[in-house]
Amino acid sequence: MHAELSALRDEVFARNPGESEFHQSVSEVFEALDPVVDRHPQYVEAGILHRLCEPERQIIFRVPWADDQGVVHVNRGFRVEFNSALGPYKGGIRFHPSVYLGIVKFLGFEQIFKNSLTGMPIGGGKGGSDFNPAGRSDGEIMRFCQSFMTELHRHIGEHTDVPAGDIGVGGREIGYMFGQYKRLTNRFEAGVLTGKGLTWGGSLVRTEATGYGAVMFADSMLRTRGESMDGQRVLVSGSGNVALHAAEKAAALGATVVTASDSKGYIVDEKGLDLELLKQIKEVERGRISEYAERRGGHVRYVEGGSVWDVPGTVAIPSATQNELDDDAAKTLLNNGVKAVSEGANMPSTEAATHLFVESGILFGPGKAANAGGVATSALEMQQNASRDSWNFDYTHERLEQIMRDIHDRCVETAEEYGTPGNYVAGANIAGFIKVADAMLAQGLV
Ligand code: GLU
Repeated sequence: MHAELSALRDEVFARNPGESEFHQSVSEVFEALDPVVDRHPQYVEAGILHRLCEPERQIIFRVPWADDQGVVHVNRGFRVEFNSALGPYKGGIRFHPSVYLGIVKFLGFEQIFKNSLTGMPIGGGKGGSDFNPAGRSDGEIMRFCQSFMTELHRHIGEHTDVPAGDIGVGGREIGYMFGQYKRLTNRFEAGVLTGKGLTWGGSLVRTEATGYGAVMFADSMLRTRGESMDGQRVLVSGSGNVALHAAEKAAALGATVVTASDSKGYIVDEKGLDLELLKQIKEVERGRISEYAERRGGHVRYVEGGSVWDVPGTVAIPSATQNELDDDAAKTLLNNGVKAVSEGANMPSTEAATHLFVESGILFGPGKAANAGGVATSALEMQQNASRDSWNFDYTHERLEQIMRDIHDRCVETAEEYGTPGNYVAGANIAGFIKVADAMLAQGLV
């Protein structure tokens, strides 16, 4: 790595001790920027990289709430407003016990470049809480969301910061947060949150968009080698919103999706997943994936613990969480003949796994490109809110397809332009970076 870049990276690490996920996301970007710094020294001279790594604003707050027994709990809430060069801060809210500042910063940092790649006018941010929604009643979820928004509302707005969902935050939670925002501000400000319900400002295709987009991206990558999703044997990890819709789109394009997982284990269904059953168990009953094996029939294998990446497949769509796919898993996938990996989750591959994939020459779509369909469709939702319009499914789906194709092509062209043909990690990071960096240069030292 360029001496100036590695010195700056070390400085960022030292300034943000203990935040390993944030360090990992910074490293990935810096590694890709080597050829950019050679060609455009003005970015370093103007301190763009220095400034990019320091969030514009970080908010940490107390979230008190009472459970159904009246017992008081206190969680920690976060919103990291990372970069507003291209538009209002935009990014999801994650509720998961693993959430701490380092996770929110890694996600917010990723979001800057991802959002830039979409071509939409959105900056980067992310939020969350260490609240664990598992096993909580609907009333507890509502009270937690209301308490979270009671503080968050003063920091967000349709022109300032526009949160959405992420792990642990779906349509139900967005509804409770929107209701509380409306009550506190006395404004029906639809554009303040995305992922809303369809009758009160939500967009068709938003729910499906992240998973659908990750499969569209895989399809585009495969087409550069004369193949497509048709006939592929697909491995999906996770069983949340991204995983379910990735599986749905893959099946619609003629692939057979054989796996899904949750934190306890994974299933292998050689006949292809029954998505109606899986959705019923995961989304309606909020149950465990092991129940799928019990209900679907004897041919399904349920493996407790273990790694879904031990199963042979030609396309992998990691859609669970960060660092779920390590170097051993990458080696197993490569030995088993995987042709394409399209990241539905944010940074699901460890740094070592990412290096193995890139060096192997298979098609590897990093999350900031492959899963950008979700936030891109959030931007389409904002567009509909601003014009008080709502588009039909087909039109919105076409827009998503076009956006994913454009992101894919931009990655390919940029990788070629900077001397690393076929390297989607380099292409995504460089293309995402340059747009933000140029906007920051134009806007002066702010
Ligand atoms: N949480 C999603 C992501 O990682 C979507 C964010 C949004 O729609 O704002 O990109």
